[in-house]
Amino acid sequence: MIPGAFAYHRPSSVDEAVALLADLGEDARPLGGGHSLIPLMKLRFAAPAHLVDLGGIGDLKGIREEGGDIVIGAMVTQHELIASGLLAAKLPILAETSRVIADPQVRYVGTLGGNVANGDPGNDMPAVMIALDASYELTGKGGKRSVPARGYYKGAYDTALQPGEILSAIRIPTPAAGHGYAYEKLKRKVGDYATAAAAVVLIMQGGKVASCAIGLTNVADTPLFAEEAGGILTGSALDAEKVKKAVAAAEAITSPASDRRGSPHYRTKMAGVMLQRALARAKSRAS
Ligand SMILES: Cc1cc2nc3c(=O)[nH]c(=O)nc-3n(C[C@H](O)[C@H](O)[C@H](O)COP(=O)(O)OP(=O)(O)OC[C@H]3O[C@@H](n4cnc5c(N)ncnc54)[C@H](O)[C@@H]3O)c2cc1C
Repeated sequence: MIPGAFAYHRPSSVDEAVALLADLGEDARPLGGGHSLIPLMKLRFAAPAHLVDLGGIGDLKGIREEGGDIVIGAMVTQHELIASGLLAAKLPILAETSRVIADPQVRYVGTLGGNVANGDPGNDMPAVMIALDASYELTGKGGKRSVPARGYYKGAYDTALQPGEILSAIRIPTPAAGHGYAYEKLKRKVGDYATAAAAVVLIMQGGKVASCAIGLTNVADTPLFAEEAGGILTGSALDAEKVKKAVAAAEAITSPASDRRGSPHYRTKMAGVMLQRALARAKSRAS
């Protein structure tokens, strides 16, 4: 299938990109790797008159440490997240999550910025960013602002990004060395979006949970922050009774759609199973 006609723009700086987007108005869309947007255009679910390709902007690339944070440019691909030595050492959950996204062909081109900016509840990275308490740098003609991942998602494809803005970088507070982490995803086959998935980032001290943050994928219109579930586990040794309570609290905030991946009840229960597995694996990795 072939998308409708559009004009193609390839700016070489962030300033040029946001000026173009502001001038072209709501008929223009930023283009990252194109692996979500182009399929939608081929199906005629999206028909932007202008695409502003961010691929030529060097400032949107790179992974670096800044203060106590890790800052990742929006145009860093999912493959580059897997290949990064810095992330392997400090934020291994990003490679673990990237590996369960689609297939290598998609990951070579699909970007982290596109994955989190998009607002598709089926995208895997947003729940991970919520668990990591990341924030998104949004840049428009008037300058930059920072929005926490936990406050960015308003509904399906409805986010805090304003027309004329791009998501320029993702800033993640570096978790303490020895933190436990896991991303558990149930999918029907390789390359599928999640039936349900759970991200866990926790810190254990003296055999007890000092902090625990949980994100859930594809079980509501938005990625979910299971704050109550994390609170239930804090101070516990992740014993079976507390895990059961936390899983129930996480399941209670889901409201999945019925689709080819299963009924709402099934997908809610699978979110609970994914969370239970993610907690066990995160605990086994924590030191
Ligand atoms: C076969 C297939 C299977 C897939 N399976 C999965 C999966 O299991 N899990 C998963 O998470 N994803 C999956 N994807 C999606 C893939 O990971 C996408 O590449 C990714 O979600 C979007 O990144 P992109 O760079 O391709 O964004 P694009 O497609 O270029 O853009 C997506 C949206 O975000 C906007 N956008 C892009 N970059 C920016 C930016 N910097 N600032 C503001 N807005 C921006 C665009 O305007 C568009 O609305 C799959 C894709 C395919 C084709």
